[in-house]
Amino acid sequence: MKRLIKDLGLGYDKIHSCPNDCMLYWGDQKNQQSCHVYGKSRWMNSNTEDVNTDEGGAQLRKKPVKVLRYFPLIPRLQRLFMSSKTAESMRWHNDQRTDDGLLRHPADSLAWKSFDSKFLSFASDPRNVRLGLAADGFNPFKIMSTSYSTWPILLVPYNFPPWICMKQSSFILSMIIPGEKGPGNDIDIYLQPLIEELKQLWSGVETYDVLRKENFNLRVILLWTINDFLAYANLSGWSTKGRYAVLVVLRKLVRSGCIMGSSLTWAIVGEYRGAPEQTVGSEILFMLKDINFSYGKMNQPPITQTRRRSRDESDDESDEEDDPNEAELWKKRSIFFELPYWEHNILRHNLDVMHIEKNVCENIIGTILNVDGKSKDNLQSRLDLVDMRIRRDLYPQVLPNGKYRLPPSIFSMSKKEKEVFCMVLKDIKVPDAYASNISRCVSFKDRRLYSLNHMITTS
Ligand SMILES: [Zn+2]
Repeated sequence: MKRLIKDLGLGYDKIHSCPNDCMLYWGDQKNQQSCHVYGKSRWMNSNTEDVNTDEGGAQLRKKPVKVLRYFPLIPRLQRLFMSSKTAESMRWHNDQRTDDGLLRHPADSLAWKSFDSKFLSFASDPRNVRLGLAADGFNPFKIMSTSYSTWPILLVPYNFPPWICMKQSSFILSMIIPGEKGPGNDIDIYLQPLIEELKQLWSGVETYDVLRKENFNLRVILLWTINDFLAYANLSGWSTKGRYAVLVVLRKLVRSGCIMGSSLTWAIVGEYRGAPEQTVGSEILFMLKDINFSYGKMNQPPITQTRRRSRDESDDESDEEDDPNEAELWKKRSIFFELPYWEHNILRHNLDVMHIEKNVCENIIGTILNVDGKSKDNLQSRLDLVDMRIRRDLYPQVLPNGKYRLPPSIFSMSKKEKEVFCMVLKDIKVPDAYASNISRCVSFKDRRLYSLNHMITTS
């Protein structure tokens, strides 16, 4: 079965990686036995019980510590032109799309059109593929283990009409990154094989088009990434933690709705200025040209500690003086910039709003139900209030035993009230197909909600 799947161009490569995410045993480093950064072995305790016996029984094999599953992209894209039906759908954005100025498909967007006007030869063949890349972590063992985060990377071919391109069956699985914590900023290490293929696909690969009965040079671009707020930081290299959790904007660091520290202290201020100037890719490259970045978990200075000012320091400083150097806020030069056209993409990263809504919702619910470890109304955020000299009634009170007491907030609920709240969600009835069944997420016993993720995947 495995051989059959491989012959269909659906196989995958196992690529070993350093457990600290410093490197892949791939390309020039394919045969290395240990990581060149900290010398960590590629293998699990290589001469003990981890030695496996092969089918033949004779050959002994060592077990790698960490394995990336990589699904080669080129054969998958070529396969789309082997069926006349999909080959026709791949031209949809050019042949059948209604071009009336309304926005229904990525092809209607400014990002797509500006790419086309810059790269005319690419745009001239509608069979050339535009891809979106989506990345997020999830825990496949949900209940059994709380600390596991597998990162699948998916590609979406945007040539298809909207009703096909967003179907699960059209998604192309590019890789599965295993790990307990998720790759974080080191995700670039794992993206290397994909970027390599994308570079090759920018010049093109010879492909047979069954519809036209001819060979043609198939070219492919990555249009943008789709991610939640945290993955956005990892993919773009821009630090979204701390006070500069600001998106496209660099020039004008907007201070409204800022997130302070680890807490969710929303300082809502009216914003009446116009849209900020956009920072284009070439400006970012210029900013990052002299900065060295390194990968691997052992390699990184604890950024949050070194960059977060201490509380005392923050007093009496004007906000303007306080703004760090723009380049300091970049954690790396994202690997996507190795793609020759990336700096010309006007929209490089998209935020998945539904996903962020889910995250925000989880935080709000965790806060109002005061779930242990999930509430954002914690000591940290109360200390922020002291810093900001607002809401004196909510300041933490030091108890005789040295611990803190947090005076209840306006939204604090009693046990009875929490039960009523959960009861309402448990019994709620919503129109079919408009919302998923939230009552399944309610846990009455401990008065909290579980697996809101499940709601976005099913709704
Ligand atoms: Zn390493």
